Amino acid sequence: MSAMAKTLFEKICDREIPADIVYEDALCVAFKDIHPQAPLHVQLVPRKPIPRLCDATVEDQALFGHLLLTAPKIAEAAGYGEAFRLVVNNGAGAGQSVFHLHLHILAGRPLKWPPG
Ligand code: C5P
Repeated sequence: MSAMAKTLFEKICDREIPADIVYEDALCVAFKDIHPQAPLHVQLVPRKPIPRLCDATVEDQALFGHLLLTAPKIAEAAGYGEAFRLVVNNGAGAGQSVFHLHLHILAGRPLKWPPG
């Protein structure tokens, strides 16, 4: 795989791999997780392929603001605007398996604290 190879989530954003897309705009795409962990489990993905949260820079500040303002709209549109959780796994040790940054949007069941 070359350094320029598209990530899995870039391919979904570009509709080269099928996904159940629930929202998209110029900066991000949201689609239903293929292995949902809650009645609502959506991946909110920036089109820009930032591998991990810790790889983001100050140049990405506006993008991250956009993602955080978009996530509640997606939860609201699904009927879960009052109770949802956002999760970012940063690095394999924290459970990250797809190295294209993504926000998990989870809702629709009791969500334990602290998370496992
Ligand atoms: O945080 P992490 O990297 O582990 O999350 C990746 C998520 O992407 C998983 O919840 C997985 O089910 C999801 N996924 C998906 N569609 C794919 C591949 C992975 O929804 N084609």
